Amino acid sequence: KMNTDIGQHILKNPGVAQAIVDKADLKQSDIVLEVGPGTGNLTTRILEKAKRVIAVEQDPRMAAELTKRFQGTPAAKRLELILGDVIKIPELPYFDVCISNTPYQISSPLTFKLLATSPSPRSAVLMFQREFAMRLFAKPGEKLYSRLSVNAQMWAKVDHVMKVGKNNFNPPPQVESNVVRITPKNPRPQISYEEWDGLLRIAFVRKNRVLRSGFLGTSSVMEMLESNYKTFCAQNDIQLDDGPLDDAAAADSMDVDAGAENDEWDGIMDVDDEDDMPDFFKEETDRKSKKMQENPNRKKKGKVSELVRSKVKKVLEVDTELADRRARLCDEGDFLKLLYAFNQEGIHFS
Ligand code: SAM
Repeated sequence: KMNTDIGQHILKNPGVAQAIVDKADLKQSDIVLEVGPGTGNLTTRILEKAKRVIAVEQDPRMAAELTKRFQGTPAAKRLELILGDVIKIPELPYFDVCISNTPYQISSPLTFKLLATSPSPRSAVLMFQREFAMRLFAKPGEKLYSRLSVNAQMWAKVDHVMKVGKNNFNPPPQVESNVVRITPKNPRPQISYEEWDGLLRIAFVRKNRVLRSGFLGTSSVMEMLESNYKTFCAQNDIQLDDGPLDDAAAADSMDVDAGAENDEWDGIMDVDDEDDMPDFFKEETDRKSKKMQENPNRKKKGKVSELVRSKVKKVLEVDTELADRRARLCDEGDFLKLLYAFNQEGIHFS
């Protein structure tokens, strides 16, 4: 019996299974990571073409079935089975290519995990829910453009392989599917994944807000940047005077906060990556405006806080002139420019 809660929809059309494996352009020397092998419909075809398969399966019953299927065959010793949740594996073993009829619940974390993997795999051929696949391709200004789109396009080339209707699965899922191929750029762009993604996380909390309010108007963001800045200074022997601000300067900085909170929101509902959003941001966006109204002077700011604020302001308004842009209209070049300018000022996101 299938457990659809963890995305168990077995591919029953052998033509589609073969096409997925063919599109991966496997070499005899390849090590393939397969996520969610299930009963092994793809696994058996991958083993025909590759040197070794590392299969990660969460469900022990499926793992048992997979083991049984290959027991006593010559392919068995080329199959390594890891029982567990692929997302929770801290460091994946080396692999050349990833192939997966992905359990849709983990589409987003799996994609991010593959994009962050270093050295990059040569390619990944993955079956996704159609809407998710469309988000991978989306361009600035399109409805589905999101942090996922920018990230995918920064680190990889994304190709559409084929559409797959729901009746190719048993049991059929609720949604249509698409197979995509993700080819990480080679050489890998020489920037830190954590820095880049840290910046995008902030920019895309509300992709319809202008960057100014996403950064300067969000107290949790400013606190994080301040804390990172202190770490940066400590590591680089930069002396900081973190005394309290005088009252006039403190009042000034409050105004900026409160003002940025209210304006610049064009009322379009976000269709954004709720699932990608870290929890503290979600809570923060819900709580924040209320808190502002209750007590606008809730916190006395220090000098470092003001210094970081002025650096962020300068980067947004002067260095990049992107303060009034909305994340949904920025392309990867804009985000790169931002990251570079922030880093020049000692502002870091990880
Ligand atoms: N590859 C098989 C096929 O194409 O017929 C099965 C694909 S089925 C859509 C997804 C499989 O992923 C299931 O076997 C499920 O138990 C497994 N799975 C679900 N979540 C997982 C996770 N977090 N890590 C590893 N495997 C997972």
